[in-house]
Amino acid sequence: MNQISTNLMMVKQRLELAAVAAKREPEDILLLAVSKAFPARAVEEAMHAGQTAFGENYVQEGVEKVQQLAKLRPWLQWHFIGPIQSNKTADVAEHFDWVHSIDRLKIAERLSAQRGEFPKLEPLQVCVQINISDETSKSGASKIEVEALCEAITKLPNLVLRGLMAIPAPSSKPEEQRQAFEAVRDYFVGIKLKHAQDFGFDFFDTLSMGMSDDMEAAIAEGSTIVRVGTAIFGKRDKITA
Ligand SMILES: *Cc1c(COP(=O)(O)O)cnc(C)c1O
Repeated sequence: MNQISTNLMMVKQRLELAAVAAKREPEDILLLAVSKAFPARAVEEAMHAGQTAFGENYVQEGVEKVQQLAKLRPWLQWHFIGPIQSNKTADVAEHFDWVHSIDRLKIAERLSAQRGEFPKLEPLQVCVQINISDETSKSGASKIEVEALCEAITKLPNLVLRGLMAIPAPSSKPEEQRQAFEAVRDYFVGIKLKHAQDFGFDFFDTLSMGMSDDMEAAIAEGSTIVRVGTAIFGKRDKITA
């Protein structure tokens, strides 16, 4: 067995153990394999080991991989999880199924309009990224902006608002990791309850949080998508990654 399929098995085992510990169903948590900085060949290897959902966070690199693997497109789901500049939205709208990293309305509006140019594609499934640790260097909508941004997105025709995404400040302490994820969940639940009667929030079911080093804490706090790179593909040697 190759390294990627061994790693995948171990990550799935971690996911299952964490779900059981939290009295949750493992099937309710999607494992997103973050393939940034790894070549299309690595994605193929993971696919042969049963993995179907992949995450990228650089537009150009991601689009190249989607195109290189065009033949496998029907079996793959591509999620864009990185910062988005407004001059790159067209590529994201054309090539991805999900976007986790919406942090301002202008980006959402452009994605919706540009997705509309591909009537055969399903609407883009999107999450609003919340800057939960208030780090000025991190992207994400601020806590006070997040609800209004969600409301505005539900009015856009070619996007489906699915939930919130967060990248808390890194911590090696499980307690601190859980506190940050709990705070994200509190925002998620608050928004969901307040808009329970609002059709635009009918599909608001996603908490995208947890990575290689903190997926257990995220699952304990209700994560429904964990975004895992290093633990599946190995260490990235690109400085930018
Ligand atoms: C790189 C990246 C990940 C994966 O991180 P690992 O620590 O390698 O698991 C998850 N989410 C985002 C937004 C990333 O950029």
